[in-house]
Amino acid sequence: MSAPIKRDALKQSWEDTEFPLVCETCLGDNPYVRMTKQPFGKKCSVCETPFTVFAFQAGTKGRLKKVEICRSCAEAKNVCQVCVYDLKYGLPVQVRDKILRESGSASSVAAVPQSQANRAYYTQQQNRMLEQGINLVAEPNAVAEATLQSMAQMEPRYERNLPKLCSFYARGECNRGATCPFRHEFPRDRDDPMAKQNTKDRFFGTHDPVANKILGRKRKMEQEEEKQQEEDGYNKARATVYVRFQGEPPFPALTEQAVRDYYYAYGEIVSVRAQPDKGQAFVEYTQPEAAQLAIARTHRKELLGKSLYVAWARAPKHGESSTAAAANQGDASAPKKAQVVLPPPPGSTESNDKKRKVPLTTTIKLPPEVLAARQQKQAAKGAGPKPHYPSTDPSRLGSAAS
Ligand SMILES: [Zn+2]
Ligand SMILES: [Zn+2]
Ligand SMILES: [Zn+2]
Repeated sequence: MSAPIKRDALKQSWEDTEFPLVCETCLGDNPYVRMTKQPFGKKCSVCETPFTVFAFQAGTKGRLKKVEICRSCAEAKNVCQVCVYDLKYGLPVQVRDKILRESGSASSVAAVPQSQANRAYYTQQQNRMLEQGINLVAEPNAVAEATLQSMAQMEPRYERNLPKLCSFYARGECNRGATCPFRHEFPRDRDDPMAKQNTKDRFFGTHDPVANKILGRKRKMEQEEEKQQEEDGYNKARATVYVRFQGEPPFPALTEQAVRDYYYAYGEIVSVRAQPDKGQAFVEYTQPEAAQLAIARTHRKELLGKSLYVAWARAPKHGESSTAAAANQGDASAPKKAQVVLPPPPGSTESNDKKRKVPLTTTIKLPPEVLAARQQKQAAKGAGPKPHYPSTDPSRLGSAAS
């Protein structure tokens, strides 16, 4: 009874498209691409719906490439129809989705059902919503976006388009020599995990060896960084960013104002300390999220025409004095809290202040040498009273658009 209806429903969802959804790498280095089009040429590797198959030569040295998954599957996950890598960041789905989840942006992970019936329903719902201008999948949040941007591999990697290996060559039997259209190299080791890749795993982001490799590399880098900090006897300061110019001196003049102008866009800044002679600076935010965002957005970007290294600031563990000492404010293991008396607000007089029984103090952990430097600086300036609250100090905002 239900069989014919079901078949009709499936037939309706056969896919006929005019152009494939393909990434830049897959299209190859040739600006003109000639494609062949075959309606319902094969079944989609993911949903098994017959769809329009496009085939084309992937650049001057590339092989003949063919789309592997249907366009609606590709759109659901925003991936290339040929290589199934993310179209925006060039990363495997598994890597992209993991970072989205870790950055608190789980709602932007497209949860495409694996079974065919559920998938058809999902696609239908999605298309209906899209017609109304609603996207089921949310935009990634700023931290996720920035992290993905920093990991993105968007330069085309044409080596991925190279011809497949010649199986005759591996056995020493290929007699076509230079005219052989296949690649004359020895195949990978059978035990190499990279030899076990398939479209479906890559699409759903499960057991993807490329993703595991990228994530493994990332984890290793983070571990090494942590280990290094441990060896140096440093803790990660809570919301402080360390900024340094990459390469050798001379460095451009790194003023506090320049740093503030560059970094105020990522969150509310508590303090900025620039050390122009060393070409480095510390930016302390009120929120750790702001620091995370600033790191993701500005690491390896340019300031004053020079590339930056941006990371979490390291603070000494046992209150040792060091250049990073001022970044110590969030460190719970610091032994003492310095009591800092802020200067009176403008307009208030000495006598006024003396009348007040409760001293105007706040607890900010600042190492003495920083305090001394600050007082010296204020003494050197000597002049007019400084605004009391950050919000009343116009210089706290950046004066340049980022
Ligand atoms: Zn499909
Ligand atoms: Zn591709
Ligand atoms: Zn050959």
